[in-house]
Amino acid sequence: RRMTIETVAVIGAGTMGAGIAQVCTQAGWKTNLYDAFPDGLERGMERIAAFWEKGIARGKTTPEQRDEWSANLTPVGDLAAAVGKADMVIEAVPELPDLKHRIFSQLDELAPPHAILGTNTSSLSIADIAAATSRPDQVIGMHFFNPVPIMKLLELVRHDRTSATTIAAAQEAGKAMGKTCILVKDIP
Ligand code: NAD
Repeated sequence: RRMTIETVAVIGAGTMGAGIAQVCTQAGWKTNLYDAFPDGLERGMERIAAFWEKGIARGKTTPEQRDEWSANLTPVGDLAAAVGKADMVIEAVPELPDLKHRIFSQLDELAPPHAILGTNTSSLSIADIAAATSRPDQVIGMHFFNPVPIMKLLELVRHDRTSATTIAAAQEAGKAMGKTCILVKDIP
């Protein structure tokens, strides 16, 4: 089964989450950016807007392109609303195991059954994060590098139960975001 991505949700609007939301929007997807803290969400949105402004000043982006991207990027302060229609969710909250596990258990409840759930963790076990859900086969590590809009590499981290369909969907998504994907095992 091939998966078409139309809507994505990014969880955590910090250094990595804002960058990930930006490249998702630039890939043409309707993108919801969520943060548990209003300040965090605002800062993330400002960082993306500033990146685009700089791109316009340098002639790398047109105002029309920026307007099109902006129209597809929505800050959302409610997790259920952010992920309710998402085909793919990418989590980028702080590197705390309990927090990630709690978020994935919530994502499992709130995201559509078909949605794949990616985590940007640098060092935590993907298998452990996946075990917090009832769909471990749809959980995959999506390890971006800072600054996300610039760095080309995307490590896709599969654990023992990540399905081939999920890997294929993540690879296709990575390509749409302009990234070079490599598939790696579940180690820090
Ligand atoms: P960050 O501190 O810049 O951002 C984290 C964001 O998550 C903040 O905006 C914070 O308000 C928000 N947050 C906190 N609790 C939340 C919750 N319960 N729900 C939603 N949002 C919440 O952190 P970062 O540097 O972007 O790192 C995020 C993840 O990316 C970590 O897992 C980290 O290991 C990984 N990572 C970071 C880098 C890097 O260079 N910074 C590179 C690769 C991977």
